[in-house]
Amino acid sequence: MKKFLSVFLSLCLLFALAVTLSSCAHECEFSSEWSKDATSHWHACTDEKCTEVADKADHTWDEGKITTKATQEADGVKTFTCTVCAQTKTETVAFTGLSEEDWDAAFADSVFENFAYTEDVVTNTTGMTIEAKSEYKFTKDSAWYKMTMMGQSEEEYAPDKASANEARSMMVASIKSMTAYGDYTYDAATKTYKANKAINIESLGASASDVTLTFANGKLVEIKYALSITESGLELSVTSTVTLSDYGTVVLNPAN
Ligand SMILES: [Zn+2]
Ligand SMILES: [Zn+2]
Repeated sequence: MKKFLSVFLSLCLLFALAVTLSSCAHECEFSSEWSKDATSHWHACTDEKCTEVADKADHTWDEGKITTKATQEADGVKTFTCTVCAQTKTETVAFTGLSEEDWDAAFADSVFENFAYTEDVVTNTTGMTIEAKSEYKFTKDSAWYKMTMMGQSEEEYAPDKASANEARSMMVASIKSMTAYGDYTYDAATKTYKANKAINIESLGASASDVTLTFANGKLVEIKYALSITESGLELSVTSTVTLSDYGTVVLNPAN
């Protein structure tokens, strides 16, 4: 009887040890909810003290979608979702240039209802430099223009909608003729768009091969180009810097 008891006690001890060593001596019941960390998902045993898991696998990421669009001013965010457990992860998306849609939006007629345009043109020829400055200001119903060259300036104010629209449509047509979407490639290093072909400059009747456009917050803010033309046997080199500014904020007062 004594021997039996000691064998029985030993067995009990072994059993207790087995329970201690294997935390899952019970029949595990796994949660239907997924448990997850950054890399994988699994079904945990519903017994909190048990560490057994089932169906553990790495996340299966979907192709991801853009949850914050990249702009020139700020990186975007692409969010991937695990197709099994719905865990998400994000990636930074660098700006690679305006989409054709955003480009077109920057040149919508409504954008040019109210803005300022300044063009500085420097013309060099043998022994002579001529600087000219053209300034335009447009509101919805009025326009102002000033041209300065060789110390002389000429100024004009169009207080009526019809003349303002006439001046505006010429200006906008000239801007649009130089800024076709497919003619430019975004250069991330300089945050500018460089022409990938010769661009016709209507006002000069010549082509420039190095036109550069700059946008800020989705709007065109600068056009730069340089070109050479021969006029009556004179070789002229022209550089132009156009600045577009004050979108939507121009106020024209006839007194100014
Ligand atoms: Zn368990
Ligand atoms: Zn997952």
